[in-house]
Amino acid sequence: MKQGIFALTALSVAVALSGCNSDDDAAVDFGQKATGYLLEVAHEAEGIGAREAGTAKETETGDWIYDKLTGFGYNVEVQSFSYEKGGKTLNSRNFIVEKAGKVDKTIVLAAHYDSTGADHGSLGATDNGAGLAAAIAIAEKIQQTDLPFNVRILLPGAEENGLNGSLHYVQDALKNGKLDNVIGMINYDTVGGGDIVYVHAAHSDYAEYQSKCEKLGLTGANYSYQPSLRDAMLQSSIDVKGEDGKYVVHPAFPGYPEGETGSWSDHAGFACAGIPIAYVEATNFNINGEWGFDGYSQTTNPAAWDCYDAEQKTACDRETETKWGKIWHTEFDRLDKLETLFPGRVNQQVSDNVNIVLNLLTSDKYINVN
Ligand SMILES: [Zn+2]
Repeated sequence: MKQGIFALTALSVAVALSGCNSDDDAAVDFGQKATGYLLEVAHEAEGIGAREAGTAKETETGDWIYDKLTGFGYNVEVQSFSYEKGGKTLNSRNFIVEKAGKVDKTIVLAAHYDSTGADHGSLGATDNGAGLAAAIAIAEKIQQTDLPFNVRILLPGAEENGLNGSLHYVQDALKNGKLDNVIGMINYDTVGGGDIVYVHAAHSDYAEYQSKCEKLGLTGANYSYQPSLRDAMLQSSIDVKGEDGKYVVHPAFPGYPEGETGSWSDHAGFACAGIPIAYVEATNFNINGEWGFDGYSQTTNPAAWDCYDAEQKTACDRETETKWGKIWHTEFDRLDKLETLFPGRVNQQVSDNVNIVLNLLTSDKYINVN
């Protein structure tokens, strides 16, 4: 009897692993799986917690990523690098996997795995546990799916202290021709937590990216702010979530033309290298924040302000405000606090992001590969 059950179980496991039983695959909700990975990454007691660049916790997170990806059946490329910070040399690693598709053109999906603000109590749940967890669930799903084009997943380290991992990756890839067939890059950085989930293109003013591009030895002649991938992501979000749940392309604000963003995350190096980018982030561009309408204030929730003036969409007193509606890098960026402030929000946003991007990556409808 026992043996009989074992044989049956072993058979179902074999069928599930072979990936050829589409009914089994369809039954798995990878958006839901991502919320489980978010716990493993950002929960202090049940998972890793804070993952500051240059610490043992960053290394531990890298090991977690490596184990997950090899467990899914990938050959994982580990790219070690060092960088200078505050007069010290620090080490980190990027993790890269690729699933080949029908056409030899590549979309890169990136999500940094380090966090910052531990001294303020941040555990990096939204920034960027959410993006990492979503990317891991996507890696798991596409490994067992036929793709119309190649998908490369890049998990950079040391983003928070200077985009070190992604800039190192782009510099090395340019040297080795690894960007030659890359036709777009999706950056997942803080894809849950804030009031509104946006998708942005790079900035039409090269000056916004110039300092990052110069680090790579690139100039404005190489730069691209082409919005094609942003617009493809928007369409996929409409098809998956409908008009009410789609990504938002922000309207024009001073310094930020419609749907465009700054160079403060891992998409920057790719835009410098002439690749169209789509940057997903959950924030609130409507707020007149500490430095204006730049999306750094993520929420109107009064708990994240000393005092929020809803009518003027800014602090009651801009001189004395200390919190500015920010979640990232603060005491609010942990799953327990987020769940109190926004019940169900983070898991919903993470799950939606997985489903929208999986829809885009597994269809030939959104990306023109010719
Ligand atoms: Zn981040």
